[in-house]
Amino acid sequence: MYIDVIGVDGSKQFGCNLCSMLLGESVLLDAGSASMLSGQQQQEVEMVLLTHAHLDHVLELGFMIDATVTIRDEPLRVMGSKACLEIVQKHYMNDLIWPDFSHIKTSIGPALVYEIIEDRKWFKLPGEITAWAEPVCHGSGARGFFFRSNTGTILYTGDTGPTDSIWEKGSEMDDLKMIIAEISFPDQKTDVAIASNHLTPSLLEKELKKLNKPDVPVYAFHLKPWERHEIEKDVARRFGGRIVILRRGDRLEF
Ligand SMILES: [Zn+2]
Ligand SMILES: [Zn+2]
Repeated sequence: MYIDVIGVDGSKQFGCNLCSMLLGESVLLDAGSASMLSGQQQQEVEMVLLTHAHLDHVLELGFMIDATVTIRDEPLRVMGSKACLEIVQKHYMNDLIWPDFSHIKTSIGPALVYEIIEDRKWFKLPGEITAWAEPVCHGSGARGFFFRSNTGTILYTGDTGPTDSIWEKGSEMDDLKMIIAEISFPDQKTDVAIASNHLTPSLLEKELKKLNKPDVPVYAFHLKPWERHEIEKDVARRFGGRIVILRRGDRLEF
């Protein structure tokens, strides 16, 4: 199994792409940069798994369903925590900001269906993958995920500030292959990171100590673009080579 990195930036500026990753061909993890996928790729996405309802993670969900509504074979399944989906339905796809595609009837029924993910239970995804949603400290119904294939498990934090249970759960997993973790701000801006429930390199270092697996590789994403240079310096100083900062176009295999 693989994850293709479509967008990794923690905000939108020229040349930056908001968070979206393709898990195999048919699962899109967050929809910040869904329009970076070709029309064919968008059509092949069966489900969008949302970590939470912040704009940088849901922004292009509306454009993706708009572009594929007349050509889909099945309704697009939009999955997330109950709180996350309620926010998307009430404040985004509400027939005011954007059409409510879950009420638009097509030849295949509604164009989009919402599916609540239960916390802390394995559920199936296409391609022999199972996933687990773990609440994290961020708001807007935020969840991190574990993705497990027959060759190993990935921990994906989504957006989060300091939190505990996802690291405790990760510590139980003997087959943990990699961690994809957010870093949004440099160490110098720790106060802003704490106030907005995000991480800095030093905060992530403390988080990783909650996980008793010092050799598992870590990939960082969600850097604020204007802080990238400072974060890279902090990461190099603090971690040497253990943490790799993801870039658009990277592929992670597990
Ligand atoms: Zn967020
Ligand atoms: Zn975000």
